[in-house]
This record gives sequence, structure tokens and C-alpha cells, in this order.
Amino acid sequence: MKCTRCRGAAEVQLRAHNSAFCRPCYLLFFRRQVERAIASENMFTKEERLLIAVSGGKDSLALWDVLVDLGYDTTGLYLGLGIGAYSSRSHDKAAAFAAARGLALRVVELAEEGPGMAVPAVAGLTRRPACSACGTMKRHYFDQVAHDEGFDVLLTGHNLDDEAARLMGNVLRWQRDHLARQRPVLPPSHPKFVRKVKPLFLCSEYETAVYAFMRGIDYIVEECPNAAGASQLVYKDTLNRLEAASPGTKQAFVKEFLRTGQPAFASTEAREAPRECTGCGMPSYGELCAFCSMMRAVQARAASRAAASDRAAPA
Ligand code: AMP
Ligand code: ZN
Repeated sequence: MKCTRCRGAAEVQLRAHNSAFCRPCYLLFFRRQVERAIASENMFTKEERLLIAVSGGKDSLALWDVLVDLGYDTTGLYLGLGIGAYSSRSHDKAAAFAAARGLALRVVELAEEGPGMAVPAVAGLTRRPACSACGTMKRHYFDQVAHDEGFDVLLTGHNLDDEAARLMGNVLRWQRDHLARQRPVLPPSHPKFVRKVKPLFLCSEYETAVYAFMRGIDYIVEECPNAAGASQLVYKDTLNRLEAASPGTKQAFVKEFLRTGQPAFASTEAREAPRECTGCGMPSYGELCAFCSMMRAVQARAASRAAASDRAAPA
């Protein structure tokens, strides 16, 4: 197998792109893919301050690596979700990556933000699925840190497989409001929000893993223990089977949706501008934002449990 670019010995074959690459040409190819996504979607400029949400996984660390290489002004944000050993290991990976390259990393530990704030405690007290509680916490802190610290853009490492799986989930339930907002660039709908972008939306999980491997990036390989039963994994598996039978399916699914489907949904799903949450002051569609209403539920449950245990143990 020969490299499509230089005709040297190829190390990796990409059936979706009908190409194969040697190591130096692959690194160039991957970087170009990211650069092209940034340019074609007008994601951000070299003058803007970028906040990259890094989980310690391959996608967000590969993204950070590429952006540093391209000369962008970046800061990492790691959220300690409190999911046992998985969280401490992922924190170590993100911290080691930043330290080895002299990059700034902001760390927010949920457990230190208040009692009962780590994801397992929130999920237990509110009886919500862990992934849903986790998503609400992540969104809130990403927005809050980006706003408080004056960043222009918030970046996540969502890749093509993530976007295709999310699209499949949204299509299977015809979630028009979600379909209307599934884009690689979300402009801010309120002055306290920053632009949210996903520069890896056309890079597959495999391509990102190959890039991270070739660049010697040490990332957390294990999946979050809460993800085991998540429907996202079933969608990813289904999409991988379709991809194996017909390479390029995932790209076409996402790209064509963005070109034709998404604008159609966006035109019928106008949403009023958010107001400000009476709890935290961040933008919200109701009186309280999703995060603050979840926190109220956590406090109420914790208080009623404490009262019950007081009654059970008379002085
Ligand atoms: P996931 O929702 O775990 O698939 O992650 C999607 C993206 O969210 C990652 O690529 C990161 O950019 C970001 N992310 C996930 N977990 C964290 C975390 N603990 N801290 C900061 N960013 C995260
Ligand atoms: Zn709030």
C-alpha cells in the first residue's frame, strides 16, 4: 500500500477518503482537515481567545495539539466530574498534556463547588440518569467559565462519530428542536454566551485516534463507566456497520444533513432569546436554568434525607 501523497510506504488506510498515508503525510492530512473545518465554518481567528474543554480523551487532546501547532491562543478547561478513578485518571492525562507543553489549564472540581455536586451524587439525589446530570453540569460550567474569564469561543472535541450518532438519535425521534440546533458552530443567543464550536466534526474517531497515536499523545483510553448502557454507543456501533459496508456513509450523513436538512429545521424552529436565570445569572429559557433547577432538587433531597436520618436516630 502506497501513500496517496508521496508514494512512500503507507501506514494508515482511510477507506472513507479512498486514500492511504505515510506518517508525515497523515499528520499533514489531519491538520489540513481541521484547518479546513475552521475556515469553511468561520469558527474563529488567531486574534480570539479559545477555551478548549479537555476531557483527557484522544479527541480533545488531539484538537488542542493541532491548535497549538497552528498558532492559536488556547487555554484548556478540565472539569472534575467526580466519577471515581475514571475522573482522577482523566484529570492526570489532561494535566500531564498541558504541563509537558507549558499550556494553561483551568481545572474545576465539581465536588469542591458545593456539597453533593459531583456527578454520582447529583444523579443519585435527583434520580436522573448520570449522563443527563453530567451533560447539564458540563454545559453550565463550560458556559460559566467561558463567560467569567472573557473567552471568545468554547471548543469541544466532538468528532464525526459523535455527531453522526447524535444525528441518528435526533432523527429516530424526530427531535426537530435538536435538529435545528445541531451545527458545528453555535452562535451565542445571549451576550453571556460565547460561540461554541466543534472543529473535529468531520474527523472520525479512528482518524483522531491515529493522529493521537502518531503524535505520542498519552490519553485516557477507557470509556466513562456511566456510558456503558448509553444509546449513543448503540448508534455508533450501527453506524460503524453501515460504514464498513459503505465507506463514507458517516461523512455523507452529517455533511448532507448540515447542507440540506439542518437549515430546513432551523427555519421552522425559531426560539425566543433567553432571559437570565434568577439563580446564577446565566442565560435561561425559564426562571431557573437547567443547572440551577437541578441544584435546587439536589438540595431539597439532601435536606429531606438529613431530616429522615435525624428522625431515625433520636438524641
Ligand atoms: P463526551 O461528552 O464525553 O463525549 O465529550 C465530548 C467533549 O466534551 C470532549 O471532546 C471534551 O471537549 C468535552 N468534555 C467531556 N468531558 C469533559 C471534562 N470532564 N472536562 C472538560 N471537557 C470535557
Ligand atoms: Zn442558573
